[in-house]
Amino acid sequence: MKAIRRFSVRPVLPEPLRPLSELARNLRWSWHPETCDLFRGVDPEGWRTAGGDPVRLLSGVSAARLESLAADRDFLDRLAEAAAGLREYRTGPRWYQTAGTAGPGAEPPAAIAYFSPEFGITAALPQYSGGLGILAGDHLKTASDLGVPLIGVGLLYRRGYFRQSLSRDGWQQEHYPLLDPNELPLAPLREPGGRPARVTLALPGGRSLHAVIWEARVGRVPLLLLDSDTEENEPHEREVTDRLYGGGSEHRLLQEMLLGIGGVRAVRAYCRLTGHPAPEVFHTNEGHAGFLGLERIRELGEAEHGSLDFGSALEAVRAGTVFTTHTPVPAGIDRFDRDLVARHFGDGGELPGVDAGRILELGTETYPGGEPHLFNMAVMGLRLAQRANGVSLLHGRVSRGMFAGLWPGFDPEEVPIGSVTNGVHAPTWTAPEVLRGAPDGPGAPGAAGLSDAGLWELRRTLRERLVTEVRERLYASWRQRGAAAAELGWIDGVLDPDVLTIGFARRVPSYKRLTLMLRDRERLIELLLHPERPVQIVVAGKAHPADDGGKRLVQELVRFADDPRVRHRLVFLPDYGMAMAQKLYPGCDVWLNNPLRPLEACGTSGMKAALNGCLNLSVLDGWWDEWFEPDFGWAIPTADGPATDEDRRDDLEAHALYELLEQRVTPLFYDRGAAGLPGRWIEMVRRTLTELGPKVLAERMVESYVRELYAPAARAHRRLDADAARELAAWKAKVRSAWPRVAVDHVEAEAAHGNGGTAELGSELALRVRVALDTLVPEDVEVQAVAGRVDGEDRITGGRAVPLKPSGGPDTEGRRLYEGRLTLERTGSFGFTVRVLPAHPLLADPAELGLTAVPQETGPEGAGVLMR
Ligand SMILES: *Cc1c(COP(=O)(O)O)cnc(C)c1O
Repeated sequence: MKAIRRFSVRPVLPEPLRPLSELARNLRWSWHPETCDLFRGVDPEGWRTAGGDPVRLLSGVSAARLESLAADRDFLDRLAEAAAGLREYRTGPRWYQTAGTAGPGAEPPAAIAYFSPEFGITAALPQYSGGLGILAGDHLKTASDLGVPLIGVGLLYRRGYFRQSLSRDGWQQEHYPLLDPNELPLAPLREPGGRPARVTLALPGGRSLHAVIWEARVGRVPLLLLDSDTEENEPHEREVTDRLYGGGSEHRLLQEMLLGIGGVRAVRAYCRLTGHPAPEVFHTNEGHAGFLGLERIRELGEAEHGSLDFGSALEAVRAGTVFTTHTPVPAGIDRFDRDLVARHFGDGGELPGVDAGRILELGTETYPGGEPHLFNMAVMGLRLAQRANGVSLLHGRVSRGMFAGLWPGFDPEEVPIGSVTNGVHAPTWTAPEVLRGAPDGPGAPGAAGLSDAGLWELRRTLRERLVTEVRERLYASWRQRGAAAAELGWIDGVLDPDVLTIGFARRVPSYKRLTLMLRDRERLIELLLHPERPVQIVVAGKAHPADDGGKRLVQELVRFADDPRVRHRLVFLPDYGMAMAQKLYPGCDVWLNNPLRPLEACGTSGMKAALNGCLNLSVLDGWWDEWFEPDFGWAIPTADGPATDEDRRDDLEAHALYELLEQRVTPLFYDRGAAGLPGRWIEMVRRTLTELGPKVLAERMVESYVRELYAPAARAHRRLDADAARELAAWKAKVRSAWPRVAVDHVEAEAAHGNGGTAELGSELALRVRVALDTLVPEDVEVQAVAGRVDGEDRITGGRAVPLKPSGGPDTEGRRLYEGRLTLERTGSFGFTVRVLPAHPLLADPAELGLTAVPQETGPEGAGVLMR
């Protein structure tokens, strides 16, 4: 029989147990083992069947058990202590309150709103698909630990991301279990009368999109999730937040409008209802939430906010916005049909007071090769944010090249996109034993303080735990694939707690090359079955539901893993997610990553592995390109020259991988010295824990965001009140209109010594430059000499800019004279040029406007001078 209605019956906790409810609703338990221990104590068996989810645990526990706990003095003491601990954690001062993060005399941002399409906080709140969401979850938890006043904003997907299983022949199956928010660690945000708070968006054709707001508590940080599955909506609108990354482009656009525009409205409702300070900074994690800037432009156009016109509002919004890009490939960026976007804004749609033409301009690909019929979310993101960053040094560099067309006339190095390398939240991703280490061990904290024998023993314990976990999961998967229990005796012999264990788990877009290890199957089999030095490999990964190519890769791997010759040494586990990941990283000895460089923007799984003393074996991409050291693992050589075709590149890199495994990795692991210990391996584990571990922490990441992006953005936001915003917009308009007539007309360079094209090291060049400024005044610009080494094509590399000083008034032709000196500090080919840039104290970067004027010609006769 099918029920016609469903209710969630919440347990009524006896009075003395009431604090359990607060402990279960605050997701801090998910990174606080002591709180988990308390919940385990409520009902050990129930805790297991609830999958370690306190809300489910409490809804299933019997009234009799609750009664007896309510009378258990010992339990009540522990409960009181845990509740007091959480209260202290939530209210006491932390790093942010004490570190002087905003600089002397300045207040740090009162609040920061952090928008992301997905959040991976715990398996009990399945609202993520992969790395982007996990990063957002780690960002929130770390902000909480550090006391950073963040408000998270996202969508609540009733069907989350899909769960993966396998058909008998290894084809990925997807299912989307329906989530009931009442059974999740969420509470509705309510108006004073008790009615759920909601936001509404106007859609074309007189329709509306409503969403209710759920709040998850992530330690100190509230996370607001918008949910369109509400009775006020028509069926079509109810489905807007049905699942993550599903549906067609209009569906996706509506999700992103709800996230960006609805998200700002949700933040306003939250602050109004709770008294939380309003955010001074808005951070969009990837371009999906970019519409948030448009809603804020709309707000500033209202009379109560000063009735700012579009251009002035844009300046005010940019000042307080941070945009983080996460993809190094143009194909990874959201691009909508321009007409589709046009239909949803302006008359009859959203943001009626805001000029739809200006909105469309923000997303236009104005660079060579840009497609005029598309609206590009990353391009809009960069135009709406004064500060932008990639997620590793390498990715920052790749992003500057990728978006350089938006700043014509500037070298890619000068493109105003920085980088903050991602990090991971140690309490979430580190096995408690590794964090804890020896009870009173000497030296380094945690497991690094153990003796060699102790550390090796711990590694074995973790490996053994993984072996047990793998067997359980493999058994469940085979039952699900239709095997009878009697056929599955072999699973008891799958993996060996003493064999070198390699992990490889991630989503399955083609650039991550799930099947690279299968390139030469015989060679892989030899590695797996080596009589003295075998390896075993645990593989997991989900392909996007619409990606049949990815599913074929999964199937290829599963079929290989099904082969009775190797199935005890290589397993594919379906349904990679946080719960599995948390078991996988600690139990592996080596974490393998072989993406096509440089397509992995950062990668974080290898960082989580490293925190557990697992060594990395990876292509030098993302974070590993930055922090690889021979003490931390191995770099797989790449063949990423433009001349190598993809097939050959795979061959070369697979070959390099096998060679490393055969020649370097396995010999080291099995090289047992005194007492049967692999001395060098243990030393590498220790160095990974003590030297690499501290670098990969999300604390380092969030502190960088605070100091380098949030605090400067808040200062800029404060300076740009309505008057200042109008003034800045007017100034930019003046500069833009004058710029076509701004020119460097004449350059004279006189060397103190030397003649012709040569000069001596240490000598000085006296520069006199005439510049046409049209209607601009000297205060509007900076005139610079840029000097440095030149390459064969006279391009200056790694140049240094020296400002030149205005000298006297305009000449008869209205040109200004600028003067300065350049010291020749290096030998070899040296060149310089002169350029004019717009200058204003409220610019975050001289390239911000994408305007520069350089001499028309170069060479000794022309305006620029080259010395050799
Ligand atoms: C860490 C993590 C990821 C991201 O891993 P990458 O190295 O970025 O591929 C994806 N999924 C889960 C479940 C994770 O824990």
